[in-house]
Amino acid sequence: MKRMKLSKVDLLANINDIETCGDVTKKRTVSFYTLGCRLNKAETGTFTKQFIDNGFSVVDFEESADVVLINTCVVTDKAESVCRNVIRRARKISPDGYIVVVGCYAEIEGQNISKDVDLIIKASEKHKIFYYLDKCEEKHSLLQVFGPIKEKVATVSENALNTTFFHAASSIENGNTRAFLKIQDGCNFFCSYCIIPYARGRSRGADIETVCTQARELISSGFKEIVLTGINIGDYRSVDGDKISRLPHLLRAVLSLNGLERLRLSSIEPNTITDELLDVVCDAPNFMNHFHIPLQSGDDEILRLMGRKYTLVDYTNVIKKIIDRIPNVTIGTDVIVGHPGETEEHFVQTKNFLQDIAVSHFHIFPYSLRKGTKSAQMPNQIEKRIKKMRARELIELGHLKLKARLIEEVSAQRIFQVLFEQQVSSGVWEGYTSNYLRVRVRPKQASISLKNEIRDVVIISVGEDLYLEGEIIADK
Ligand code: SF4
Repeated sequence: MKRMKLSKVDLLANINDIETCGDVTKKRTVSFYTLGCRLNKAETGTFTKQFIDNGFSVVDFEESADVVLINTCVVTDKAESVCRNVIRRARKISPDGYIVVVGCYAEIEGQNISKDVDLIIKASEKHKIFYYLDKCEEKHSLLQVFGPIKEKVATVSENALNTTFFHAASSIENGNTRAFLKIQDGCNFFCSYCIIPYARGRSRGADIETVCTQARELISSGFKEIVLTGINIGDYRSVDGDKISRLPHLLRAVLSLNGLERLRLSSIEPNTITDELLDVVCDAPNFMNHFHIPLQSGDDEILRLMGRKYTLVDYTNVIKKIIDRIPNVTIGTDVIVGHPGETEEHFVQTKNFLQDIAVSHFHIFPYSLRKGTKSAQMPNQIEKRIKKMRARELIELGHLKLKARLIEEVSAQRIFQVLFEQQVSSGVWEGYTSNYLRVRVRPKQASISLKNEIRDVVIISVGEDLYLEGEIIADK
C-alpha cells in the first residue's frame, strides 16, 4: 500500500517549522473518531490539542487524512462491533493514512485487530503517541523493540498500565460545549461483569495542582461548564508524600476557581458518596445539582453476584441523603438487565425498586458477556431475547419517570439557568438545566446564536421527545 512518508521531522514539527519548510505546502491532516465514555472524549480532546500543537490540521472523519486516530470502547459486544466497523471505514476513507487505535478495545483485543491498523497505542503509552508514530516509519526497529507478535502494539509492563496517568481534557476544537476533564483512571472494584479494570489498570488520580491548571485553561478557552470524569471518580486519590487527597479535597479546589460557572460530576459509585463530599458540594453555587449513580440491579442477590459493594438499603440511603441536602436535584442511574442468574423474580424486584426510588434518568444495558470476567464463567446465562425484553420494559419505565419529573417542573413554573449547546432546527436552541434536563427555546430574535450562552429560562411545557419547552426571560 502506498503511504505518504511522514518523517520524524514532519511528525514532530511545530507550525512554524512547517510554514518555513520550503517543500511542504500544506499541513498534515488528522481525523478523530471517539467511541464510548466521557473519559475517551476527554482523551481525544488532549490528542487533538497535541496534533494541532505539532502542526496538524484537524479534518472531519469522513475526509481523507494523513493520520486517523480512533479512540475505542470495549464495554459491550455492540461497542466492539462498532469499533471494528469504524476501523474498516477509516481504511476506506483514508487508504493512505496511518490508522492509529487507542482505548479499551485496543487494550483488550489489540492482537485481533493488528492486521487492520498501523499502530495500536496501549494505555500506558498514550503520552508517547508521536514517538510511536515515528516508529511506524521504521518497521524493522519496531519489530526489534516489541517482538514479532506485538509488531504494531506499543506496550510496556503491566506495572506501567497501573501507574501511568495520561492527563486529558476536552479541546474547544472538538466542538463540545461541556468540557470533560479527566481526574482519575482505572478501577480496583473488579465488578464480576466488567472488563474495564483489565483495560485501564488500577485506580489512580491526577494531582490536584494539575487538575486546577487544566481547569483554568478550559475556563480561559471559553468553557462555562466542566464535567469531572474518570472510570471510578469516587475512588479518586492523589498522594503527595504523606498527604492523601480524596475527591472532596479536589472538588473544594476546583469549585473555588475564578470564572468557573458550572461544575458537574460524571458517574459516581454509590458507596463512594460520603457526607464530606456532600458537605463540599451542597453549598457551592457553581456545583450542578445532578448525580449519575449506577445501581446495576434492584435485587440484593444479583448485586452480590455482580460483586457490587453496596446493598439496596445503602443505595436508598445515599439517594435520600442527596435529596435532603441538594435542592431540586435530579439523579440518573445505570442498570444491567439479564446478568447471569437473574430470574424473572429478580427482574420484577429491580423494576419495582426503580419504580419507587427517586431516580429519573435511566441508562439500561442488556448484560454483555465479556471474556475473562467472573460473570462470563457463571452458570445460568440469560437468553438474548429475554435480555432484550427486560431492557425494553425498563426503558419504558424510565421514559414514564422522566416525563413525570418534567411535568413536575412545568407545574412548579421553575426558572432555570440553561447552558445552550446547539441549534436543533431553524430558530430552536437546545441546552441543559443545572439538573440536567433538556430544554428547548425559540428566541424572539430568530438569527441569534445561543451556543455556549447561559440564559434564564422559565419552563412552560413538556415537549414530545422528553424535553422541556421554555422561554428566555429577557424575551418576555
Ligand atoms: S466500579 Fe465496577 S463497573 Fe465500574 S469500572 Fe469498576 S469494575 Fe467496572
